[in-house]
Amino acid sequence: MAFAALTTPKLPTLLRMSELYAPTLREDPVDAEIASHRLLVRAAMIRKVAAGVYSFLPLGMRVLAKVEAIVAEEMAAIGSQEMRMSVIQPAELWHESGRWDDYGPELMRLEDRHGHSFALAPTHEELITALIRNELRSYRELPKSLYHFSNKYRDEIRPRFGLLRAREFIMKDAYSFHVDQASLQEHYEQQARAYGRICERLGLTYFPVEADSGQIGGKVTIEFMALAEAGEAELVYCDCGYAANTEVAEVNVRAESYAGETLREIHTPIEGSIASLAKFLSIPESQTVKALAGCDLDGRIVVLFIPGDHELGPIKALRAVEGFELLTDEEMEAAGLARGYLGPVDLPGGVRIIADRALQSVPHWLVGANREQYHLSGARPGRDFEVDAWVDLTTAQSGDRCPLCGRDLKMARGIEVGQVFQLGTKYSESMGAQYMDEEGNEKPFVMGCYGWGVTRCLAAVVEQYNDEDGIFWPVSVAPAEVCVVPLAVGDNEVVQLAERLAGELAAAGVEVVIDDRDERAGVKFADADLIGWPYQLVIGKRGLAAGEVELKTRENNEKQSLPLEQSVDSLVALIAARREAYA
Ligand code: ATP
Ligand code: MG
Repeated sequence: MAFAALTTPKLPTLLRMSELYAPTLREDPVDAEIASHRLLVRAAMIRKVAAGVYSFLPLGMRVLAKVEAIVAEEMAAIGSQEMRMSVIQPAELWHESGRWDDYGPELMRLEDRHGHSFALAPTHEELITALIRNELRSYRELPKSLYHFSNKYRDEIRPRFGLLRAREFIMKDAYSFHVDQASLQEHYEQQARAYGRICERLGLTYFPVEADSGQIGGKVTIEFMALAEAGEAELVYCDCGYAANTEVAEVNVRAESYAGETLREIHTPIEGSIASLAKFLSIPESQTVKALAGCDLDGRIVVLFIPGDHELGPIKALRAVEGFELLTDEEMEAAGLARGYLGPVDLPGGVRIIADRALQSVPHWLVGANREQYHLSGARPGRDFEVDAWVDLTTAQSGDRCPLCGRDLKMARGIEVGQVFQLGTKYSESMGAQYMDEEGNEKPFVMGCYGWGVTRCLAAVVEQYNDEDGIFWPVSVAPAEVCVVPLAVGDNEVVQLAERLAGELAAAGVEVVIDDRDERAGVKFADADLIGWPYQLVIGKRGLAAGEVELKTRENNEKQSLPLEQSVDSLVALIAARREAYA
């Protein structure tokens, strides 16, 4: 992948297919599982270098430049200043923040000839904090917001899906510095609104969702999710406006009691799974309670209980129990826990019980009896066993209810294109970045950071704008707006007319490409459809005789005839209106 592009590009407005380096492909790349990966490669936008590493060809570069220009405009509109930081970062900075170890194998590391260690930036909190800590000094200079476009490097465990999960990718990341939470909140909201506008200008159907802050730190955060089946994120949303990543969504889970109030042992000669238990008793899985044994950071054993028809949310488990890890079968045996028949009554001493909030409204549980082939019904918290903590533990799923309005939630898949975080003082404290307040006291900066996946969002757009023939770019990010297609290159009249119309469109400021190659009509149409120019202006001999040209709108593949002499004016007006729609 080339280094990040200029953010205020001057793109040529008349391109020639005969000159353009755009080697389109008829075959799908063998490793491509999703549309954006297939089509970006076939449409000659990107080429693979290594797993998760891509180069951009001229057409992809034009799209990239437009995306960056939109992002840059929105950053300028909220007063964030562009800069550029280095990708190679001294290990010392990462030791200061503690992330040299915390980041794990995703951090790409290298050594220079003198044996000094460096990280290839996966993100820039460390570098920017070090950059400002001795030079941004007074409350009078705050707040400040700075951003850059740069390559990021993450040694993802599973690089795949082309630009969606790459190991080298371009991010726009902004960082802000404040005297207090109120000032941070204000800029955070501006950034979130800017992200909404960026999504709209890119034509993305999206949701801002509640999320987890992961490696970056901080507590308050929103992810911007472009809806797409190919997305790796799962979200729940409601017509009332609530939306959250299923990993963290604090939804209302329906859980039910199983018949019987007295504690009773049931013989269950089955393989110990929730599905087989529900089948054996002919009850829904929601009437069962699932137990998961794990240990905390210090190796102390804890058993988590959740409604039987739900899954444990790994992020929620980690929030509830520091360093939570599930026990292996051997570890369970060693700890004297009955695999498949685990329950809360009479657990070995010292084992903590943590239960999902939803179970608080379930007076009697159907659980394992802590012995092979037996379950207990009517197990009552507070009477038959004690729960050490009630917390939110499950991954949200269909059938759960909205925490705001109580209606049933809907599920969708999404691509995380951006995320905004309130970092607070995590980095300013660990790295000693302070400013002087009005009374002359040293105070740590209150910080925010705001990441936007520039290359990933390009793939997200293609996921939402493709059909079986190729891409149909929104005008805002198309590599050019109109493709003029002369059908008979041997025919002087057709060629001259095509050149004249293309020239007039370009002179009016429309971005035009003319397919002046000596190719069959079928080849030109296939390429135009694949690359995804929003409009094709087709000039053929027959139309010419009738004084007409044909306009194809790629979005819906509809064709209309335009009177030749009005075609340029109509198209200029149409493009102006389309641009306006994405402005
Ligand atoms: P994910 O959860 O998808 O791994 P993340 O939460 O780790 O992403 P952030 O640290 O929030 O990512 O980075 C900001 C933005 O950078 C993301 O919203 C995403 O658009 C982009 N991004 C992150 N990882 C990748 C990647 N491997 N390839 C392409 N873009 C990425
Ligand atoms: Mg993220």
